[in-house]
Amino acid sequence: MARPLLAEIDLGALRHNYSLARELAGDSRAVAVIKADAYGHGAVACAAALESLPAERRPPAFAVACLEEAEALREGGIESSIVLLEGIFEPHELARVEALGLWMAVHSEWQVSALLAYRPAKPIPVWLKVDSGMHRLGFPPDQAAAVWERLAAAPTCATGLLLMSHFATADAVDSKYFQRQLDCMQALARRLDAPLCLANSPATLAWPEAHGAWVRPGVMLYGSDPLERANEASHRLEPVMTLRSEIIAVRDLAAGEPVGYAGRWQASRPSRIGVVACGYGDGYDRHAADGTPVLVAGQRTAIAGKVSMDMLTVDLTDIPEADIGTEVVLWGRSRHGAVLSVDEVARHCDTISYTLLTGILPRVPRRYTPPA
Ligand SMILES: *Cc1c(COP(=O)(O)O)cnc(C)c1O
Repeated sequence: MARPLLAEIDLGALRHNYSLARELAGDSRAVAVIKADAYGHGAVACAAALESLPAERRPPAFAVACLEEAEALREGGIESSIVLLEGIFEPHELARVEALGLWMAVHSEWQVSALLAYRPAKPIPVWLKVDSGMHRLGFPPDQAAAVWERLAAAPTCATGLLLMSHFATADAVDSKYFQRQLDCMQALARRLDAPLCLANSPATLAWPEAHGAWVRPGVMLYGSDPLERANEASHRLEPVMTLRSEIIAVRDLAAGEPVGYAGRWQASRPSRIGVVACGYGDGYDRHAADGTPVLVAGQRTAIAGKVSMDMLTVDLTDIPEADIGTEVVLWGRSRHGAVLSVDEVARHCDTISYTLLTGILPRVPRRYTPPA
């Protein structure tokens, strides 16, 4: 029998979450962010599941971080528009951008000069990135208008030109900094009569005033709720990835006995411990504390002891029916119906869902459930 660990990807749930993003976006168009191999879910499979939606419900474009990610999508047969969120990394990439029909962000002067000097035969839609407060990529607001005018004057860039910026605090319940960034971008958009693309998942879910012409949801498409406090919309998200395994051994321990490396967990009562085929060598976070939730036979229990490379240990004391072969869900949906959110697991690992989802390693087979 094969090692039981699997990452099951529910493509119907992906479509559901994308539809929710579209519904929230209203008149804005929703580009589906599928960088980092669709946050670990498999970019080609995820793009194909969204691209095959009826025309009026499918994403107008996908977004990735770099040319290599776009090339993998084209090789996988994806024909939709694709935007490079960080544009090119070297000037010679422009030929591939043009050949593959990509759109690109420009965040730096060297990219603008390279683009204007390149003179593509076909127009390249350009998203001008403005640094409204994230202080990572983009032109300072007081330089953006001049760059915009140069791009708008170039017939090969003017098509699809828009202003893009990224929020630092859209997940916070009440953020003055968010408002400051939004005010900055709205003032610039009014001055240039430019369409805006600002909203990541938290802003798509919670800040309708920031939706603009385009929104850019990422993590919410995979069913993770990025908001500091869930709202009505985020409650409707469905998990896309289920990380599923089984119990491969069971131990009965007397009170006081330790489990695993350094004996971090100790039995406070006579205990039954299950060994699960899943470890940090699969990408499960080694920072998972004792008490990190898992579902065993659809019931919540907790990690007991440090995560090892190929295994982790869970407390089965209160789930007497659990035995070798019993289903364990590390996050996602149990066959028994219960759901464990990756966001909750992330909190126990002192991290965010993004790192857990993108962290699943190639050793874990992906199995896709097609949309109903
Ligand atoms: C990754 C990314 C997004 C999506 O962010 P989420 O928080 O996953 O929704 C949007 N815009 C840019 C520029 C990004 O890099």
